[in-house]
Amino acid sequence: MTSPEPTIFERIIAREIPADIVHETETLIAFRDIAPQAPVHLLVVPKTAEYATVAELAEADPALLAEVVATAKLLAETHADGHYRLVFNSGEAAGQTVFHVHAHVLAGGLDEGSLA
Ligand code: 5GP
Repeated sequence: MTSPEPTIFERIIAREIPADIVHETETLIAFRDIAPQAPVHLLVVPKTAEYATVAELAEADPALLAEVVATAKLLAETHADGHYRLVFNSGEAAGQTVFHVHAHVLAGGLDEGSLA
């Protein structure tokens, strides 16, 4: 069986390509989005590549999803004023381009146009 191509996030986690990493634990990593849609736009990414969407993660590992949410709050407090929007795109037609579950943390002065 051939394994699927690693996603861009797996390559960032493996340090094969650079990213502006702002937070890392054993289970997740957070870095700045390369094409920010808000003054602060961070991605919080579980290291496991097993789950493509937030619903899959919620069903299989709710504790890890809770870590993602807690990390988003922490980062919004340390990188902005603590107010933030948390976005999980699920499915191509909804704008998902990387099929490795991730949370967009949008903060630092949001307006109507800053949906990731
Ligand atoms: P999605 O569209 O799947 O919800 O979000 C994927 C996000 O990953 C996009 O906002 C996109 O800008 C970001 N992204 C794609 N490639 C890279 C990359 O190589 N480095 C970083 N830091 N972000 C990336």
